[in-house]
Amino acid sequence: MGLLENKVALVTGASRGIGRAIATRFAQEGAQVAFTYLSSVEKGQALEAELAALGIKAKGYRSDASDYQQAEDLMNQVVADFGKIDVLVNNAGITKDGLLMRMTEEQWDTVIQVNLKSVFNLSKAATKPMMKAKSGSIINLTSVVGLRGNAGQANYAASKAGIIGFTKSVALELGSRNIRSNAVAPGFIETEMTGELNAAATEEWKKSIPLKRGGQAEEVADACVFLGSDMSRYITGQVLQVDGGMLT
Ligand code: NAP
Repeated sequence: MGLLENKVALVTGASRGIGRAIATRFAQEGAQVAFTYLSSVEKGQALEAELAALGIKAKGYRSDASDYQQAEDLMNQVVADFGKIDVLVNNAGITKDGLLMRMTEEQWDTVIQVNLKSVFNLSKAATKPMMKAKSGSIINLTSVVGLRGNAGQANYAASKAGIIGFTKSVALELGSRNIRSNAVAPGFIETEMTGELNAAATEEWKKSIPLKRGGQAEEVADACVFLGSDMSRYITGQVLQVDGGMLT
């Protein structure tokens, strides 16, 4: 019996990287999986087929998590299609790096909108069905960068630090309804997002990680399985670092 048997999960931004690994691990643990993508339409459709082949109900939706109305429509559609929502994973995120001196207003606004507002949009939409069910787990992808900052990522760090404040506030507001809210803070995970970084710089980074390697998307997904499952039923308002000890 899987750890997520009989649970319906929605994962945002699952066409690739960490989101894709979360959707896959959830399906392997028996969850029914709804997921979103935005620009990677073919990859999203391929994932739907891949998940369904694991013998669970799976459905992909093209939906912009940063758009309030689209998020609300999506949640209504997921509840209509699956009957309920037990676990929400707010994973969709982007970077638009630059030193503050050169950072444009557009770079700032877009990253805050996609990374932080999306978490508000989907969490708010999930609250109603979760309150009705008197149960739910919300998992927000933050980053070690949100905990300690990073030169060249003031916008991204602010969005990820904002997610932590949001996560803890929701935990305080909804604990009495048995709705849990936690954040996962990955360190350096080898995905397309980090693949864009300079190779020499990433080798230096890895040396400074106690476990001496970058993380895999599946390793972040395993932490999400734990937080989505009843194994973590007495855990809320926490930030779980999945960083090989990078920030200790
Ligand atoms: P990624 O490979 O760049 O994938 C990002 C995913 O988000 C894609 O599936 C993309 O979908 C989706 N997305 C982007 N904007 C969206 C929007 N407006 N609406 C819906 N979906 C959207 O990123 P990743 O490395 O897997 O990162 C996933 C999460 O982990 C992010 O929140 C990131 O900040 C966080 N994180 C990553 C690392 C790391 O080392 N990789 C470290 C710490 C935290 P489309 O391709 O379809 O547009």
